[in-house]
Amino acid sequence: MSHLIIFDMEWNMGYAPKTFDYHGIEENLRGEVIQIGAVKMEGQEIRDTFRVTLRPRIFRKLHHRVAKVTGLTQKEINAGLPISEGLRKFRAWCGEDAVLGEWGQDDMPVLKQNLFLVGQDESWPGKWYDLQKVYTAQRPLKEGEGMALETVVDRLGIEKEDSFHDALADAMYTAKVMQFVDIQKGLETYPDDEAQLKALLCPPDKDRHDFISWPGFVDGETWRTDNTMRTANCPECGRPLKPDSADLWLSKGKNCLYSIEICRQHGPAMVWLRRSQLDGLHYRFARATEKADKTAQAKWDHEKKAAAERARRKREAEAAERQNGGRPQSAGRPQQKPRPMGHKMG
Ligand SMILES: [Zn+2]
Repeated sequence: MSHLIIFDMEWNMGYAPKTFDYHGIEENLRGEVIQIGAVKMEGQEIRDTFRVTLRPRIFRKLHHRVAKVTGLTQKEINAGLPISEGLRKFRAWCGEDAVLGEWGQDDMPVLKQNLFLVGQDESWPGKWYDLQKVYTAQRPLKEGEGMALETVVDRLGIEKEDSFHDALADAMYTAKVMQFVDIQKGLETYPDDEAQLKALLCPPDKDRHDFISWPGFVDGETWRTDNTMRTANCPECGRPLKPDSADLWLSKGKNCLYSIEICRQHGPAMVWLRRSQLDGLHYRFARATEKADKTAQAKWDHEKKAAAERARRKREAEAAERQNGGRPQSAGRPQQKPRPMGHKMG
């Protein structure tokens, strides 16, 4: 049985955004790691701990918000190990057969981005777990219960000896929380990336078909141009659907696109695309289709009109901006979100 490393990181933010090139794609650096804390678990038992403070080389100035949350000082991070050395040390301590877990999904993308930026193998670790998912699978949340680490620690009555937002303290609290569930069973039944997307795209209350997913893209905009992704098959006869006249795709949040496509024989179907970027570097896309009844068609027509209206207003605002050569007026305009499917038309 491989052991589980429960880890937590603190990372520094920049006062200005920083992008980097990942195989030809411009990525946003989410943060630069300044502290790693970790706990080695064997089964339900805590076996070892790890802690390192790292000296950043990109975001060198400690952001005041990070300082406030973590209690770290500029002096402390300046005295930290060089980031590449610290990351190597962490990996060595984890051991080659380790699997990693964190409370949530925020740290792994930062870790992988940082590994890449210091020239280390960002494909490590190959497997990691969102321990919130592992925990809630066995202890489902009750109405109104939150998932913040401190909230859960309070709920379970775990003694609070250390302050939160210290990497090792948070990893240790996470380990103590995980002792309340069967860790091994949780890891064995954990939904992989594809299963997680499927759960989002095909919830039990929707009649969605033909789930398919495509992993490993560095370009997050692939779904806007890739015909394989955009051309679905009819949920009834399986023949390729044709885009409707406008070939328009609307977005719902930043990770969902949908459109309506037509089967000559069976009429329109809604096509849903989703994307996820769990490691901060690679995207997985997925698709499902759903027969479009009268309500869905009317809703789509309504949303299409609203999108056209938004585009028109945006063009006008941009034209006005060009005319008076002044400050941008269109920036920050809140986009009206389409209502969820199944919502009764007003
Ligand atoms: Zn058909």
